Amino acid sequence: MIHHRKVATMVALLLVFAHSLPAAEPAAKSRNAWQAGVSRVVITPAEPMWMSGYGGRSKLAEGKVHDLWAKAVALKDPTGKTVVFVSTDLITVPIKMVDAVMAEITRKHGIGRSEVMFTCSHTHCGPAVDDMLSYMLDMNDSDWRQVRSYQKTLNANLVGLISAALKDLKPAAVSFGNGRCHFAANRRAPKGIGPYDHDVPVLRIGSVDGKMLRAVVFGYACHNTVMSYYKWSGDYAGFAQLYLEGRHPGVTALFFAGCGADQNPLPRRREELAKKYGRMLGVAVDRVLNSPTTPVSGRIATRFENIELAFDNLPKKSELLEVQKTGSRYKKAWAGNLLKQYDLYGRLLPTYPYPIQSWQIGPKLTWVALGGEVVVDYAVSLKKLLGHHDTDRSVWVAGYSNDVMAYIASERVLEEGGYEGDTSMIYYQKPSKWRTGLEKQIITTVVNLTADNRTQAARPPQLPGELLFDGRTLTGWKKTKFGGEAEVVVRNGQLILETGADMTGITWNRDTPPPEWDYEVTLDVMRVEGHDFFCGLTFQAGKSPCSLILGGWGGGVCGLSSIDGFDASENDTTGYHEFQNGRWYRVRLRVTRQQITAWLDGKEILDQPLKGRKLSIRGEVDLSRPFGLSTWQTTGAVRNLRLRKLTAKEIAPTKK
Ligand SMILES: [Zn+2]
Repeated sequence: MIHHRKVATMVALLLVFAHSLPAAEPAAKSRNAWQAGVSRVVITPAEPMWMSGYGGRSKLAEGKVHDLWAKAVALKDPTGKTVVFVSTDLITVPIKMVDAVMAEITRKHGIGRSEVMFTCSHTHCGPAVDDMLSYMLDMNDSDWRQVRSYQKTLNANLVGLISAALKDLKPAAVSFGNGRCHFAANRRAPKGIGPYDHDVPVLRIGSVDGKMLRAVVFGYACHNTVMSYYKWSGDYAGFAQLYLEGRHPGVTALFFAGCGADQNPLPRRREELAKKYGRMLGVAVDRVLNSPTTPVSGRIATRFENIELAFDNLPKKSELLEVQKTGSRYKKAWAGNLLKQYDLYGRLLPTYPYPIQSWQIGPKLTWVALGGEVVVDYAVSLKKLLGHHDTDRSVWVAGYSNDVMAYIASERVLEEGGYEGDTSMIYYQKPSKWRTGLEKQIITTVVNLTADNRTQAARPPQLPGELLFDGRTLTGWKKTKFGGEAEVVVRNGQLILETGADMTGITWNRDTPPPEWDYEVTLDVMRVEGHDFFCGLTFQAGKSPCSLILGGWGGGVCGLSSIDGFDASENDTTGYHEFQNGRWYRVRLRVTRQQITAWLDGKEILDQPLKGRKLSIRGEVDLSRPFGLSTWQTTGAVRNLRLRKLTAKEIAPTKK
């Protein structure tokens, strides 16, 4: 009997415990909640065309050693946050390509700029693309037409590739590790003496039981320049991917280039060497796959920012006209491009928007992606600053990502000068070398973005309260007929309110009305694209409606609309916040009879006492009553939308 009573008590305790947990999912389900998707597409040009990488090539490609690929891995954390890593056997990542592909991807999948990482292997045996680097080639108009036509197909292929990776998302065991490979050598004089980074970061994507390997992402910091012949080839990075795919049939291997701008595979120029380095790298990856790897857990956080890097010196128009007459083929192309800028803007642009991306994949893995051909000093400093360890917290730094506009020298290399510090700018059609100070600018931004990500990733994935959006359907909601509204769709567990003219939104559509007092709403919101409010949350305070506006009036104004007839831009709650498109913000709104309080990422942004105040809403959001969400000329995404009644203890007035 005693035994039975004990069991009964335990069951009762378990039940109480289970009920007190905020909407906890079954343990088994949440353990397996990470998902991954894999896709690949051949991007070998169908016809002979110009190759990129060396200005001295004098004819079109003649056949292939092996195919060139674009490959993608999508990762989805238990909250639904999804990222896509893209690897390409290309010399560069043209910014025009990224912009075109991202516009489609955002429209189709509601995924923001920070959530996609475009990388390339920097193979010098790939096709010319529609990019500044192609001006170093001796191409005529019809060659350029062919390059642009190839680029169009490539863009469409990348949209298809990313979509396919998202479609392939299924439960997965994701883990990481770090290996070592030693063929990269610092190529600056005196050769082989300067700094290097021999790390081999490895991301393992396996079946959910961990037994079957589906994909492996790996990186290395070394120029992909063993070969300079006229055959399509992924060079050593292509051979490394082939080695791994041969060792593990059915598996997709994806490469990214690290900060290897001043590193070369030495010696080089023989295909046997390209194969050998590929094998060495593949063996290093395999060694990691065969040892214990660190499982990825928790959640994903992403940031992306363009910072303005300044040029050191802007040549005068007269100087450029002179170079056009007397310079080499490369210098003439350079002067011609800069003169086009004079025609277009009446001046040379003094800065360039430099892309910096940082991903936090769970609490332990930081993955930084920098634009341009980045010298190794950046990886060395960032690993030190952000705390890299092989077996615990790891820091990976990809170069050649999201836009390859030039070499990115460190202060040391800039001061030393030479190719990476100065003269390579000609081939990238840039007015001069970078102005000193860029290293600090880049490093500081990476450190700040990463710190923000680490805070975001550490947030508990589960919020308390009843889920108001199930992540799959619009159950419980109706589209708001604002007139001029755009689509409301559910993608990847997110509710997407597309850009309307002017408004798009959803309104409460349930049997029971929303609460009037003493409740809390929490949600994650993101501005996907646009420059106005991406979260207009209309709610009730008693019988009065009111709206919480985030990012209004051109992008940054936050507050309540309206109090005593004054809207969010002109009352006591008015605040300003610089929102990043593509970043999730956690919003919490509490309504009691005493006050309305709101928090953004855990920080209080407004606290409005209600005594003697008259609440109302602006006429535009009348159709959001009694409870609704809306955006203004902006695409917004929502997830984790929850509602919770406050406890008696929470309701007790604590403030004056
Ligand atoms: Zn290069």
